[in-house]
Amino acid sequence: MAIRSVNPATEEVLKEFEPLDDNGIDRALDKAVNAFRRHRETPFAKRAEKMHKAPDILEDGKSDWGRLMTGEMGKTHKAAIAETEKCAWVCRYYAENAEQLLKDEHIRTEAAQSFIRHLPIGPVLAVMPWNFPFWQVFRFAAPALMAGNVGLLKHASNVPQCALAIEEIFRQAGFEEGSFQSLLVGAAAVEGILTDGRVRAATLTGSEPAGASVASIAGGQIKKTVLELGGSDAFIVMPSADYERALDTAVTARNINNGQSCIAAKRFIVHKDIYDRFRADFTERMAALTVGDPMNENTDTGPLAMAQIRDEVAAQVAESVKAGARLLTGGKPIEGRGYFFEPGVLADIPQSAPAWREEVFGPVALLFRVENFREAVDLANDSRFGLGSSVWTTDATEMADAADHIDAGCTFINAMVASDPRLPFGGVKASGYGRELSELGIKEFVNQKTVSVST
Ligand code: NAP
Repeated sequence: MAIRSVNPATEEVLKEFEPLDDNGIDRALDKAVNAFRRHRETPFAKRAEKMHKAPDILEDGKSDWGRLMTGEMGKTHKAAIAETEKCAWVCRYYAENAEQLLKDEHIRTEAAQSFIRHLPIGPVLAVMPWNFPFWQVFRFAAPALMAGNVGLLKHASNVPQCALAIEEIFRQAGFEEGSFQSLLVGAAAVEGILTDGRVRAATLTGSEPAGASVASIAGGQIKKTVLELGGSDAFIVMPSADYERALDTAVTARNINNGQSCIAAKRFIVHKDIYDRFRADFTERMAALTVGDPMNENTDTGPLAMAQIRDEVAAQVAESVKAGARLLTGGKPIEGRGYFFEPGVLADIPQSAPAWREEVFGPVALLFRVENFREAVDLANDSRFGLGSSVWTTDATEMADAADHIDAGCTFINAMVASDPRLPFGGVKASGYGRELSELGIKEFVNQKTVSVST
């Protein structure tokens, strides 16, 4: 089946590509192995020189790269430009810090010298989603290339032009042919690539079923994986919080990327003393969002990326209402061309509703009322997922409680959950395992080799 790039705002087919066949994949893997042999021997300074060029290419072309992302998956152009800038940041971060992060770690023993050396492992397969079509890839590629590995990208099938653009950016930055390749293949080709001896490890960002499949195939081959999967992040608001800031952030945090972000706040858990006020204000703000052309500067929310996603979100809302939830605003597809969807708010959600159990990957907020902070934490933890969490309070005991007891990969207090190259990023439970970014991220795909020298 051809790989198609479709504009979700207009439903126009932008481009079609023939997927790589088995011979094409075989050649790409050979190229990766050959490139790795040379790339691993290049000193950090040389790798950093190239990695420093990528941000210039990204920033010089940010409007065009942004247009590419918006065209293929519908995020607003201003958000796509911000994504390009963030990719520049992660490239600079690893260009400047990789050598220090991977320096030998000396350990005192009876031997003359003992240390850990961080060695690259080879070609790493990255199976990536469409929602942040540049950022997800760069946050894998920058540390991987700086560590001396080479990358094989299997991007989501709806963003092939973004995939090819990223390959081109690394080529223009000076990384040699084969160091970073985009393989235009569908999901069915992943098993063959992953079981090939030339591929040493895999990282996947995406849904639970895709993660489970890649992890089990890799497990059968004793290959390491990192999984960044879904989330249903809690956003807890307590009476002591700066109410206006919490409210503003709540609206932004739910609608970021047209509501299609793993770390979007999805479950708003609000203390009873401020619940009614928050419900009214938040619903009004959600209803006032401008949905429309993602290229327009004034648009808050563009289309959902695919018809299938729009339909899935609509079905989750409809079934939740059937189970007893109350729809306070929006929550429906918008008639006409493009996969547009009215931002929605659901309240009084029963435990049996899909909105309670599942990730809602679109701009629909779920409201919950709680008696106290303990109940808020318990509700936050009543989820299969454990990616991010955001807590709004000025009470020091509640802050400490949140840090200790929310079962998630991160807790942001009085701030929105956001990834940052300097901080580890990842989840627990069904949100996956392993960490990206920071020192932890670059050490996921290296051989942490023990060297002991005796006289
Ligand atoms: P998806 O369907 O799992 O797709 C993600 C990638 O996996 C695509 O490249 C897809 O290829 C591939 N894939 C799908 N099924 C596969 C399988 N059985 N074996 C191997 N590869 C497979 O995910 P999505 O629905 O596009 O993305 C949204 C999900 O990603 C949400 O759950 C979201 O929360 C999660 N996400 C997590 C993070 C994080 O950092 N934790 C970040 C962003 C998104 P095709 O496109 O060819 O099917």
